[in-house]
Amino acid sequence: MTGGSRRTAVAAVVTAMLGLGSLPVPPAAVPGIDVLGYDVELSLERSGTFFQGRVSIRLVLQDPRPSELPLDLSGLEVEWVRIDGTDTAFRRDRGTLRIAIPPRAEVGDQLVVEILYGGSPIDGLILRDNVHGVPSAFVDNWPDRARFWLPSIDHPSDKATVRFTVHAPSAWSVVANGHMVGEPSPTKPDALGGAGDRRTWRWESGVPVSTYNMVIGASEFVIRSVGTAACGRAPATIRDDGCIDVSYWVYQADTTFAAELFARAPQMVDFFADLIGPFPFEKLANVQSATRFGGMENASAIFYSEEAIAQGTMAEGTVSHEIAHQWFGDSVTEAEWSHLWLSEGFATYFGALFFEEADGTDDFRRRMEESRRTYVSSDDVGHPIVRAENNLMDLLNRNNYQKGGWVLHMLRGVLGDEDFFTGIQEYFGRHAGDVILTADFQRSMEGVSGLDLEWFFRQWVHEPGYPRLAISTEWLAESHELEIRIRQEQRRSWPTFRFTADVEFDLPGRSVRRSIEVRGREQAVRISLPQAPRGVTFDPDGWILKEIVGSH
Ligand SMILES: [Zn+2]
Repeated sequence: MTGGSRRTAVAAVVTAMLGLGSLPVPPAAVPGIDVLGYDVELSLERSGTFFQGRVSIRLVLQDPRPSELPLDLSGLEVEWVRIDGTDTAFRRDRGTLRIAIPPRAEVGDQLVVEILYGGSPIDGLILRDNVHGVPSAFVDNWPDRARFWLPSIDHPSDKATVRFTVHAPSAWSVVANGHMVGEPSPTKPDALGGAGDRRTWRWESGVPVSTYNMVIGASEFVIRSVGTAACGRAPATIRDDGCIDVSYWVYQADTTFAAELFARAPQMVDFFADLIGPFPFEKLANVQSATRFGGMENASAIFYSEEAIAQGTMAEGTVSHEIAHQWFGDSVTEAEWSHLWLSEGFATYFGALFFEEADGTDDFRRRMEESRRTYVSSDDVGHPIVRAENNLMDLLNRNNYQKGGWVLHMLRGVLGDEDFFTGIQEYFGRHAGDVILTADFQRSMEGVSGLDLEWFFRQWVHEPGYPRLAISTEWLAESHELEIRIRQEQRRSWPTFRFTADVEFDLPGRSVRRSIEVRGREQAVRISLPQAPRGVTFDPDGWILKEIVGSH
């Protein structure tokens, strides 16, 4: 990969490409309903597992007009529901809160649905002491656990703005998506849950996000700014200087490790903003939290495992991965869960690309090699990347992460750096803030490169496996040729892979390279060389996801 000059050149190409034909819109999560915004008020206590909530959901009715609004909500008590200020009938139906839509409401009308609710959430909103024994409250939604604390259309394809008003113990600080609105102030007596020794915090994401990204975190934090980033490339920022603030929110005992862990976070934001496109959100907070994951990429408020930070085991690679997600996953979001690689594969690859830029090619190749080994030694190789799972947690597999990252690396190998990164910018520029499927990404990369990539996406994304290669060579002294025989020995149910690989020949005093196009289960190619090589290295720079299983 080359430095900054290439990026300036590709920006002009991207600008010239805007205005290509429109794409089909993926189906909404609930036909006939489009949520525009959630206005959430939460009342949190210092101890106990109880909370109170009030949400105003602004939505627009679409065709076909539904007769009821089916919101996802599991557990909790619902006190009342109002539509445009009028008490409205509702019923609970397992995990659904069904609300009658007034007969007078027509397609195109906007409604405000207000719900007063609360209780002890069994998931999603985690109310417990943190790793240091201090009370805390954290939301952890992925993939569809927002429904345990927020009545919502809990599907990534219905993005909405979100505004939080959180009444919390005065010792706590509260972080959430978007930007802080005003300063925290003493909670008013007429607030949800009443006054007491509490402060009220307000946050707002004017950029629509998926419900799995909508979070608050509250505890006794030390809050530190690490600097600004994406200056002039952060359209949603509210700062006068056009930058975003990059900060961390951690527990007092863990500030030393956090300072080290997040030191390069602004550099990562700048790197991705240069490489991919403008930073999509209003700020970037890195938060020590109760998330069940190592890191969770919540838009503009990344949550990290509190244990891993307290123990000092959190890797910087997690930080770059989660920051890369702000573009891929959070801004450009898979419309269906089965296309999760568009989030995880991209975060895996772009997270590694930061280290290629910052720490050099060797560091990057080590990461890719580790990723390759993890994938080929897993049980996931028998399934394609795009695959529906009954249990969404099963999507957190080596196909969506490691193989997905490798697909991007191989595509970069096929297209070359210039077309690949131009295609990435075109794809992001076209779909920022939107939801997409794999075909949308394919179309962007085909549009920029002028290549038909159907074969590439079919064999690597929609089919299982990877090539397992048996390679042997023989020096043909008479013709001064090296015969290279390549046999694809992977399972018969896997595709016969097609790819181009470099081969390096070690000659006295120098090495020479040739490209070989591999296709077919078995093939032999002859390469003219001045003399017999002392060694032959297949794919010396590691561009192909493969396993070499020996010679034959
Ligand atoms: Zn991820």
